[in-house]
Amino acid sequence: RLGTGNRIIQAKLVLLGDVGTGKTSLAIRFVKGQFFHNQEPTIGAAFFTQILSLPEATVKFDIWDTAGQERYHSLVPLYYRGAAAAIVVYDISSYETFVRAQKWVQELQSYGSPKLVMALVANKSDLEPKRGVATEEGEQFAQENGLFYMETSAKSAKNINELFHEIAQRLTRAF
Ligand code: GDP
Ligand code: MG
Repeated sequence: RLGTGNRIIQAKLVLLGDVGTGKTSLAIRFVKGQFFHNQEPTIGAAFFTQILSLPEATVKFDIWDTAGQERYHSLVPLYYRGAAAAIVVYDISSYETFVRAQKWVQELQSYGSPKLVMALVANKSDLEPKRGVATEEGEQFAQENGLFYMETSAKSAKNINELFHEIAQRLTRAF
């Protein structure tokens, strides 16, 4: 539902991060409210849209999901060109994916839009017993690089709406 005659912001949002960190699952949880234990690796670029109404604006998200290019560590800049927001995802149970997330952040900071709203997302927070990256480490990296940090679970739905809500709010301030 569109907001009450207020501003409409159309925003391209890209998901970045290692294979298996839960990018597709985050998008599907947000857009469809569902979760799949055996989420198929994305074949061909996937595209989702979702509308989020805030009191001050209506944000129409065009969500771009990778088509597995992240496996080759070379995302064509075309993928994030024109993006207003980016979610960089890692898996809290895998330190390797956190290291990779830092690389994606650096790439976006070098080649992305200067006004890009960026979130660092520690996904799979339901795997707390197998945690491999401390909350403080994620928070510190985010703070040092001007991103905001959030721990989510596409599985349990923890912080998914909060994540997109926060991005939407930052977009309304940026545009
Ligand atoms: P992508 O390659 O980054 O798009 O990752 P996928 O969304 O395909 O997810 C990879 C695997 O992790 C799938 O088996 C998902 O079911 C699982 N997964 C995704 N998010 C979560 C989560 O929050 N918690 C747990 N436990 N598993 C998740
Ligand atoms: Mg995927």
